[in-house]
Amino acid sequence: MEKKNIFVRIQEMESQMGQMHSELGELKLVIKELLEDNHRLSLENEQLRKVFKREVQSAESETASPRKQPQLVKNEESGEDVVGEGYDNLARLYHEGFHICNVYYGHLRTEGDCLFCLSFLNK
Ligand SMILES: [Zn+2]
Repeated sequence: MEKKNIFVRIQEMESQMGQMHSELGELKLVIKELLEDNHRLSLENEQLRKVFKREVQSAESETASPRKQPQLVKNEESGEDVVGEGYDNLARLYHEGFHICNVYYGHLRTEGDCLFCLSFLNK
């Protein structure tokens, strides 16, 4: 093998390694984002399961006790109480850790209080 030839080949390998190195860096970033997404979605899913379980339980207890049934019908007729109920639901969702603002609605709150949500609740 000629001396010149071997240097050319080493240079080629070097540039290939550099390219692979930067590709590895990009892949690492993608993996990091996916792990973060996964973590966030797991938390959100866990929280939603809790809410869902409680909703099912309260729906079951409502059908079990006939006292609440006429109240629901009355609420639908008057309209006003339904709005209040909706507000309560939103406030509860917020306290369970979800956004209720237009900006992030339905997403898990990961960084404490949200000003958008709070201004919505204070309306
Ligand atoms: Zn929010």
